[in-house]
Amino acid sequence: MSIPLFAYFQGKIVPYPEAKISVLTHGFNYGTAVFGGLRAYWNQEQEQLFLFRPLDHYQRQLNSAKLLRMELDHTPESLTQVTIELIRQSNYRQDIYIRPIAYKADEVIGVRLHDLHDEIAIVALPFERYLKNDTNAHVTFSAWRRIDDNAIPARGKISGAYINSSFVKTDAVLAGFDEALVLTQEGHVSEASAMNIFMVKDGRLVTPPITDNILEGITRRSVIELAQGELNLTVYERPIDRTEIYLCEELFLTGSAAQIVAVTRVDHRPIGTGVMGPITASLRETFENAIRGRIAKLKHWNTPVYINEKITHKN
Ligand code: PMP
Repeated sequence: MSIPLFAYFQGKIVPYPEAKISVLTHGFNYGTAVFGGLRAYWNQEQEQLFLFRPLDHYQRQLNSAKLLRMELDHTPESLTQVTIELIRQSNYRQDIYIRPIAYKADEVIGVRLHDLHDEIAIVALPFERYLKNDTNAHVTFSAWRRIDDNAIPARGKISGAYINSSFVKTDAVLAGFDEALVLTQEGHVSEASAMNIFMVKDGRLVTPPITDNILEGITRRSVIELAQGELNLTVYERPIDRTEIYLCEELFLTGSAAQIVAVTRVDHRPIGTGVMGPITASLRETFENAIRGRIAKLKHWNTPVYINEKITHKN
């Protein structure tokens, strides 16, 4: 994996090696940080890099920050602007990943959220694939349970909460699976370690509601909009039982890093016919067109990074 060239750090863009925090930093010690994960996709025909739904990502980031009582002098628009400047400075012309992280920055001992000051840092780096196997993944139900809203809210992308995801992911990978699904304390399907989940049942999409301790994914939201608007599919948000997953027709996971991952086996049981189904395949194709700025009516999802790139490009 490559490392970033620059970072937005303490209010300015600096070379990445200069963006350093101390061992005592509160966010590092107590997990009092909130992060995001956005992508920008290179469009070769237009010689343009498109940030995917940055305002939605940064709105979620600021909501997560609000849960931790953070005060950041930023709006989704200002964070998008900083991100554009950061990418321009790095001059990336390929698919990249952007990681913003807001954190309690004081170097003090003491568990709390109040009377601390907050910082936000952003880095961008080249990034291709998150999951090696995104066309026929084999997943398992984790023995771990999902964190609960009244313990650590999953709707905030809170750094400390990712210990839960790490338990889920590592146990699954060490047991030979690609990913794991995690259940809520009540036993409903919540999500994967860092992806939302959809099943196809009777030709309709079904995904857990936002009250089942999921992160409210931007990819999840986009897939719902694409399914309804582009593919004319019905989408239900409702609690899902474990055995509905074993019996569904198609299954896929969604996330900014991995996009849409076809799951074809769960706990050694084939899903549907045991290969990627037609609805998953067409959603993957439609999503790919949407993120690269090839769907005219969804251009508001694509924020161009470079100015008039095609026109000003060298001749
Ligand atoms: N759930 C969790 C726990 C995640 O960390 C992520 C990745 N951000 C997702 C779902 C997918 O969210 P998004 O589509 O916004 O990347």
